[in-house]
Amino acid sequence: MRIILIGPPGAGKGTQCQRLVEHLRVPHLSTGEMLRAAVRSATPEGVQASKYMEQGQLVPDELIVGMVTKRLEAPDCRKGYLLDGFPRTLPQAATLDELLERRAMSVDGVIELAVPRDELIRRMLARKRADDNPEIFSKRIASFEIQTAPLLDYYGRQGKLASIDGLGTADEIFERVQTALRRFARAAGRR
Ligand code: ADP
Repeated sequence: MRIILIGPPGAGKGTQCQRLVEHLRVPHLSTGEMLRAAVRSATPEGVQASKYMEQGQLVPDELIVGMVTKRLEAPDCRKGYLLDGFPRTLPQAATLDELLERRAMSVDGVIELAVPRDELIRRMLARKRADDNPEIFSKRIASFEIQTAPLLDYYGRQGKLASIDGLGTADEIFERVQTALRRFARAAGRR
């Protein structure tokens, strides 16, 4: 299955992604992780990306699309994958759809992990990670609301969106995730 997980920073995507990839036995494609690895090894992409990431801004679409396109060609992606952190803008989503269409494929489903903004801020203050500078964190939330939230409509119109309540224990949330997967599987069977 080709699944996308969308959620604002601090929504708990990491935990659910871990469970999802174990459950589906597909690779976990996290663009945040790919970018952090590129920054660590100071590749040209990493050098370019770091100035945006430090500011809580999205890196340019061309850069991220190039990275993801290459990754999707790897043999381990043939049986499906979980996309985490991509697409994050409408142009990224459109590019992904085109890329898949050329191979007679499509996204099977998109899961939104919905968490209200005040809860995100509360969690951020409670965990205080080094990259959780409150000002930068607010910028990341704003970039989610402005640039990424429109994707919910985009996938909703395709009938592929499952919005899940991101409040509760990790187990409770994963139950909701599995319900969404069953729905995607039924829809795929009808296509
Ligand atoms: P978050 O904690 O916000 O989910 P990630 O670990 O997914 O963050 O990504 C970290 C940073 O990497 C983002 O704030 C952004 O600057 C950059 N980034 C990751 N994925 C993308 C993408 N698809 N498009 C643009 N920028 C991205």
